[in-house]
Amino acid sequence: MMSTSENGLNLKKEALFWSTSGKDVQCLLCPHKCIIEEDGTGLCKVRKHVPGKGLFSLSYGLFSSISVDPVEKKPLYHWHPGSKILSLGSVGCNMTCPFCQNWPIATWDRDLKLFSQNIDQIIELAKTHGLESIAFTYNEPLVGFEFLMDAATKIKDANLNVVIVSNGLINKQPLSLLSPYLDAANIDLKVFTEECYKKLGGNLETVKESILLLVEEGIHLEITHLIVPGINDDLESFQSMVRWIRSISGDMILHLTRYFPNYLWNETPTSLNLMEEFEGIARSQLNFVYLGNIPGESVTYCKRCGREIIVRNGYLVSLCRTDSKGKCPYCGSDNYIEI
Ligand code: SF4
Repeated sequence: MMSTSENGLNLKKEALFWSTSGKDVQCLLCPHKCIIEEDGTGLCKVRKHVPGKGLFSLSYGLFSSISVDPVEKKPLYHWHPGSKILSLGSVGCNMTCPFCQNWPIATWDRDLKLFSQNIDQIIELAKTHGLESIAFTYNEPLVGFEFLMDAATKIKDANLNVVIVSNGLINKQPLSLLSPYLDAANIDLKVFTEECYKKLGGNLETVKESILLLVEEGIHLEITHLIVPGINDDLESFQSMVRWIRSISGDMILHLTRYFPNYLWNETPTSLNLMEEFEGIARSQLNFVYLGNIPGESVTYCKRCGREIIVRNGYLVSLCRTDSKGKCPYCGSDNYIEI
């Protein structure tokens, strides 16, 4: 493993998934397939072509934030409800959404103070706090693929759970390599047309493939859709998205979250009327739909008998009535809640 320093940055780990392209290198981690000249970085800013050496991860073991969160904050509502999770954020993202809610870390504002942690320290920290799960979240964790891979294998060896909160914009081969080490994921499905995904620096087909791969691999998956006025408030496109999710399963969990102005997008916050209209459309197709970033209760009703199974107030679970297998204690229906 290389360990050098340049401009105050640690260039610690050679990247996976790249090839040479004449004098340049090409990163093959995500569909951007950036061709990177000497000393340049890819679109995500955290993968650098070091002359004569190849492509390196700049964010390996570097973090912008670390905290203990309710798992509901990821959001994961049907996975270990009421538990806490160690949450780690690094820097970098391979999309360019103008409404980014985490832009200082996504765009790697160089004034940010980063700190380093090795994997053993992270596992120790989780155990010290009595936590059973670790989430890679806040920025896009997949652009730090090498650390994620190394960490995930060690975290599983330590009998802890691995969670990612991601935009799902990664090529199939690396995701297949990572997926055996994942326990749960929340994937952000941002829009449902290629044209609009392109404007956000992404690719719909890739995100759909990532979702399907995680489902096929049996990883607990929840989908988040941030409703942003002027970006994805088109009803027809949303209906297509919901129909596609339904084609996977009517039990897929969908979080519809409210946007607030941030970064380069100044539209007023998503109206509650629009949130409810989208919720109605989604509920007509899916059994488990939740509104996020709005105050109040959020309830999981049994899909068969309609009784309350889980009640949350904000991120806090105030009532959880599943049986020990996550099923409805009244009628025994499987509501796909992992305990
Ligand atoms: S991971 Fe980063 S460097 Fe690699 S192709 Fe994607 S955006 Fe480009």
